[in-house]
Amino acid sequence: MKKVPLYIQIFIAIFLGIIIGLISVYTSSGEFIINWIKPWGDIFMRLLKMIAVPLIIVSLINGLAGLSDLAKLSSMGLKTIGMYLITTLLAVSIGLLIVNITKPGKLISENTQSDLTIAYAGQVEDNQEIAFSNKQRGPLHFIVEIIPENIIESASSNRNMLQLIFLSLFVGIATVVIPKNKTASFRKIIEELNDIVLWMIDKIMLFSPIGVLALMSGIIVDVAGNDINKTVELFSALAWYAFSVVIGLLILIFILYPILINIITKKKYFDFLKAILPAQLLGFSTSSSAATLPVTMECAEDNLKLKKEVSSFVLPLGATINMDGTSLYQAVAAVFIAQAFGMELTMFQQLTIVITATLASIGSAAVPGAGIVMLVVVLESIGVPSIGIALILAPDRPLDMLRTTTNLTGDLMIASLVDKWEASAKKNHQKS
Ligand code: ASP
Repeated sequence: MKKVPLYIQIFIAIFLGIIIGLISVYTSSGEFIINWIKPWGDIFMRLLKMIAVPLIIVSLINGLAGLSDLAKLSSMGLKTIGMYLITTLLAVSIGLLIVNITKPGKLISENTQSDLTIAYAGQVEDNQEIAFSNKQRGPLHFIVEIIPENIIESASSNRNMLQLIFLSLFVGIATVVIPKNKTASFRKIIEELNDIVLWMIDKIMLFSPIGVLALMSGIIVDVAGNDINKTVELFSALAWYAFSVVIGLLILIFILYPILINIITKKKYFDFLKAILPAQLLGFSTSSSAATLPVTMECAEDNLKLKKEVSSFVLPLGATINMDGTSLYQAVAAVFIAQAFGMELTMFQQLTIVITATLASIGSAAVPGAGIVMLVVVLESIGVPSIGIALILAPDRPLDMLRTTTNLTGDLMIASLVDKWEASAKKNHQKS
């Protein structure tokens, strides 16, 4: 019998998960899902998170060790980070433009405002605490935070990915610079570790349809509880805001990215989308670019046929710092909340959003809900009460699913561009 491709299995799992979730909400049996189905989703998430740290370390060091010299690394690094910044700035600007046109916040009634604020007061405080502790330490704090104080501690939390990336880049650079004969066995070990991690990922992915089904049904029950009417009312009140975010994300995926892919790689965008569908579906169901990274890399290497030295450098870095979807969402959300509080933002405040949302998206961990935590920093920078986050908590999960999908699409798009540039540079080098 022919094996059903994984992305089709995941697609069916998403569909079944939603159906099972909805049935359990309608029959008020949400507890059954929470007790017996959702844990399988949690197991799948844990497996993915378990492998995220070894994958980042091993693939970055292995990717760098494969480079012939430091010049190649710095040229690829500059292109990658430059493009990451440009697309993030564009994403924030698109978000601001849309939200200033749609003005979703003006539709929020005072009643809904106070209902939501009361309902989510606890969660808002948690988010505020995390973000305040980040903010109080000054503007350069995020750079200080990139340097690990203790590497074991860095590896102990998936929120410290940037520290691990710093460490791996450092080790990778050392491997490139130190003469090959002195690092031969280290290179071999890293290569073998890479094979082991990839094998483990392959096996974990066999479990993905079950994990995704469980995650989806769990999400439906979590959001709806046993009262579907309440959810419907809440969602319709916030629909215009969510619509603005979604329009922005669609502009990125269906206008900005195709233009860049067509002009620079000359590839058909449809083929690109087809090749990355498994990663998009997994990003959608896990809401985590870090957890999806193994599949993102597989799509890049097996389907897009990108060079390993490009994908293993560009993608782990992108999963952590390049979040176009998150930055666009933060811009829309910040203006929406300001509008809901009846505040008119000045041009200066909007410019501040461009800068803070760009930095906040870079600083957001690639895990579910990270974007909304960092949103507090954006709100505080423009003097909008961060309690307003309560207004947008309800539709945050579905939006997180969509922005994560956008985030990793952006990473894969830039990996394709860098791959093309590197290939042309190599050709030119050979000619001359
Ligand atoms: N969940 C997103 C990601 O992992 C981050 C966010 O919350 O926006 O890419």
